[in-house]
Amino acid sequence: MSEKKIHDVIIVGSGPAGYTAAIYTARAGLKPIVLAGSFTAGGALMNTTEVENFPGFPEGIMGPDLMVKMQEQAEKFGADVRMEDATKLDLAGDVKTVETEDETLQARTVILATGAAYRKLGLEGEDTYQGRGVSYCATCDGFFFRDKPIAVVGGGDSAMEEAIFLSRFGSKVSVIHRRDELRASKVMADRAAQNPKIEFEWNSVVSDMEGENGLEKIILEDTNTGEKREIDANGLFVAIGHEPRTDLVKGQLELDEGYIKVNHPTTETSMSGVFACGDVVDSKYRQAITAAGTGAQAALDAQHYLESLETPGEIK
Ligand code: NAP
Repeated sequence: MSEKKIHDVIIVGSGPAGYTAAIYTARAGLKPIVLAGSFTAGGALMNTTEVENFPGFPEGIMGPDLMVKMQEQAEKFGADVRMEDATKLDLAGDVKTVETEDETLQARTVILATGAAYRKLGLEGEDTYQGRGVSYCATCDGFFFRDKPIAVVGGGDSAMEEAIFLSRFGSKVSVIHRRDELRASKVMADRAAQNPKIEFEWNSVVSDMEGENGLEKIILEDTNTGEKREIDANGLFVAIGHEPRTDLVKGQLELDEGYIKVNHPTTETSMSGVFACGDVVDSKYRQAITAAGTGAQAALDAQHYLESLETPGEIK
């Protein structure tokens, strides 16, 4: 099915960035269409438990509840939220084309808020223990492992940052790295090395996980000898990098180390009329509140772009 209408704004993605962009553009009367995703609607927060650091919720709020509230807020102002995936984008020209499985849509502006996926270890136990020990976000879940042994997988800045943060909570933090040299910057590596609660398990990968009512132990395999050993861990934080979801725009937009490149401090991409926000542009902060902030920026940028066109508004 192909709609004849040329919309003002199509937002692809529905995490805090996408829904905030929807709230702002809807309040501006731009009647945004939000392609919220068929499986991924709500974004990464749908996989978290309690969110305690989003301002405005002093008692905390469950991640999925927060996302439902954002969706409701966007819809209240007229956003058209569709639980569909964008399958193909044509971003060139003044009118952009966005295909889903069922329809072809057109718009003058597109806001990309497709987020980033945590890179996974690819172990069976990873899904089994997710939410019962395995996590991808120390600031989200570290608090639940107070005085418990914690492990962090990875050797980059994210892993060091997670380990340092988690040392506030855990009885000890074991950093498991597949080599004997960290990828992390010297400053972060030094900070982790000097932390009395952090220990390093070099040349090691996680090969298995065990525990009856949640994670209790992880099995490590030595990458040189193949020898196996177990360590106690109630929390296992996987910090082996992120993969921004850019498949739809590869070859059309400029990327910067895999992330959509924007013209800071704006959210303009290399294609006029296309804006990007949230984790798909952010290799550094990756917080719900920062994603929401750039979502607001993208909405304002799209609104100003539309105002600058000679014939703003919908063409029927
Ligand atoms: P990263 O730099 O790509 O590091 C990923 C780490 O995970 C590497 O040590 C890598 O091992 C390891 N790894 C990858 N796949 C693995 C697997 N399947 N099994 C086991 N280990 C695996 O990612 P990042 O740490 O998320 O950092 C991303 C970017 O954000 C970097 O540019 C970083 O500097 C930046 N960042 C900065 C800060 C800060 O400045 N405060 C904080 C966080 C992130 P190898 O080393 O063997 O490849």
